Amino acid sequence: MSYQVNENGYYGDFGGAYIPEMLYPNVEELRLAYLNIMNEPSFKQEFDQLLKDYVGRPSPLYYAMRLSEKYNTKVYLKREDLNHTGAHKVNNTIGQILVAKKLGKNRIIAETGAGQHGVATATVCALMGIECIVYMGEIDIKRQAPNVARMKMLGAEVRPAKSGSKTLKDATNEAIRDWINNPVDTHYIIGSAIGPHPYPDMVTRFQSIISEEIKWQLREKEGRENPDYVIACIGGGSNAAGTYYHFLDESTVGIIAVEAAGKGVNSGESAATSQLGKEGIIHGCKTLLMQTADGQITEPYSISAGLDYPGVGPLHSHLYKTGRAEFFSVTDDDAMAAGLELSQLEGIIPAIESSHALAIFNDKKFQPDDIVVISLSGRGDKDLNTYIDYFKL
Ligand SMILES: *Cc1c(COP(=O)(O)O)cnc(C)c1O
Repeated sequence: MSYQVNENGYYGDFGGAYIPEMLYPNVEELRLAYLNIMNEPSFKQEFDQLLKDYVGRPSPLYYAMRLSEKYNTKVYLKREDLNHTGAHKVNNTIGQILVAKKLGKNRIIAETGAGQHGVATATVCALMGIECIVYMGEIDIKRQAPNVARMKMLGAEVRPAKSGSKTLKDATNEAIRDWINNPVDTHYIIGSAIGPHPYPDMVTRFQSIISEEIKWQLREKEGRENPDYVIACIGGGSNAAGTYYHFLDESTVGIIAVEAAGKGVNSGESAATSQLGKEGIIHGCKTLLMQTADGQITEPYSISAGLDYPGVGPLHSHLYKTGRAEFFSVTDDDAMAAGLELSQLEGIIPAIESSHALAIFNDKKFQPDDIVVISLSGRGDKDLNTYIDYFKL
């Protein structure tokens, strides 16, 4: 069984590039170039240097002593929350801005829902002095005012998507339209392990720095490279893909994926994509997707803006279908409780997305000598108002 993308852009039954004819030249240019660019020594050198000096990598692998005691197993947290801009997303935007430069592009577009990817994109565009346009649903612009302000402060233009439900998928449509109209000078930075091939593979490779570091960090701390489990929350699936990547073919490493159950998997208000989803096409790839009987995409819901996505990256659909990964879904309430628990046991306030992964201990029991690595994908500063309202702090 292979968990790598094949030459046609598929992970098993999932992936591919389902795009309008007019987008073909752009995607094809990227497909032909991305691996060559990523393998160039000058690219690697600049990428590694920026990850070190700008992002602050390697991120620590922290042994969470009190959390480990409580659940009677050995828990390590991979501290992506300590990256510049507060989450893993910047690993990918640094990589893609360097690819864009190598391709000779001088204009960047992106779409964003909660604004986190928009901020990570605006950040690297400022870093490189490149024009940045971020499409965002009109409703999301109202809901996520602090991130809109951040993008503007960083010099990006935020363009409202006013059609449809005025949220992420409408912003995506606008970005695609822009790319069709500006094929020569523009690169489209997609923010998760989704989109038409080669995006899921390219994003996964940029995020794979997470598992690359986990391996040597565990060797230093435990004398072995492979943990017993790696665990991550899944929105589109980029922090998870990066956390799993170097363990996919290591059969002794258990892979655990945690999705957002919102108010309950069967409540009609959830984002438990793999469990509720059926095969369909979203954002240019074939994957598991929440949809109605006649194929309309269902509006997802989660208290966490970053997990509120109706699809999941094609790699994860493949891991689900083949049984390589175990999938769990965690409700808003259980995630919030796990976020509070980590804050008070370890002095770390996690992003609510990451809190979903931390809630795994309600659903799964580990052995005392298991080494369990959890991706702490982001920090909770951006979620403070949600925590305040929820806990009446
Ligand atoms: C965006 C985000 C996620 C979800 O995105 P993935 O692509 O699934 O990783 C998870 N955690 C944080 C902190 C985020 O900002």
